[in-house]
Amino acid sequence: ERKAALAAATGPGATSDGHKVPLLANVGGPADVPAAVAAGAEGVGLFRTEFLFLDGGGTAPSEQAQVEAYRKVLEAFPEGRVVVRVLDAGADKPLEFLTSADEPNPALGVRGLRSLLAHPEVLRTQLTALSKAAAGLPVYLEVMAPMVADRRDAADFAAACRDAGLPAKAGAMVEIPAAALRSRAILQEVEFLSLGTNDLAQYAFAADREVGAVSRLQDPWQPALLDLVAFAAEGAKAEGKSCGVCGEAASDPLLACVLTGLGVTSLSMGASAIPYVRATLAKHTLAQCERAASAARAADTAEEAREAARTVLSGE
Ligand code: PEP
Ligand code: MG
Repeated sequence: ERKAALAAATGPGATSDGHKVPLLANVGGPADVPAAVAAGAEGVGLFRTEFLFLDGGGTAPSEQAQVEAYRKVLEAFPEGRVVVRVLDAGADKPLEFLTSADEPNPALGVRGLRSLLAHPEVLRTQLTALSKAAAGLPVYLEVMAPMVADRRDAADFAAACRDAGLPAKAGAMVEIPAAALRSRAILQEVEFLSLGTNDLAQYAFAADREVGAVSRLQDPWQPALLDLVAFAAEGAKAEGKSCGVCGEAASDPLLACVLTGLGVTSLSMGASAIPYVRATLAKHTLAQCERAASAARAADTAEEAREAARTVLSGE
């Protein structure tokens, strides 16, 4: 019965008082699209394109192979929004032809956008393939770079997008604390932000996301992580630009309300979480989400933050 009720609620994401929060899907390729459509995703908020490359057996897929894969995802959301992340190689996702094997700290090395700026031909092929894939489609394409550290990174990525004639907005992922603190400077160069809370937590807490022994510090309810999210979202608001979340944090229904209260403008998650996030968001006003966010930020631990938000959101 609960399942049926959830499945029935397939409208756009919004709080009970009508504040819209688009609910988007994280996908790794065309195979993930049917589940996203079935869950009523309003588009794609994170297309992790590295999966196309990881399957390539040590070489980059050809431009044509990329065009075909991108087009399948773009076609699934006519009039919708699709945010494609350019290749995020390195650290937990090493790629033979891009990633150096002898870095002492791969998570702090040449990864993400840094790899692409070191191999501009790989970035250029990907951007060209995206331009061709989007040609003639009504879809609203946005393209973002992983692991942007500062304004110069954002400027370099925006320039690469312009040079490739990309018919899309360029954006930056905020996964490095420095980028969250300087969101307004980064937004002088690009049109939108998307918070990758998985890496943002890893770098804020110096806690490797692959190491279970430090998982306590990876908890997205950590008040310091919420502070960074708030800082980035406030910067985006001041610049009149959007700031979504595409990390795992967005898939926790209570935390989704808190992120909304912090000023996040869209939420992207694995498709299976969308109905639950939609249903929870629809039960609370924006003001309640804002109060829950303040209560969570006032806490000292992740557990207390979660409890404080729960208390606020259930006390109506
Ligand atoms: C993140 O870091 O939160 C993110 C969305 O990117 P990925 O998990 O692919 O690193
Ligand atoms: Mg990341």
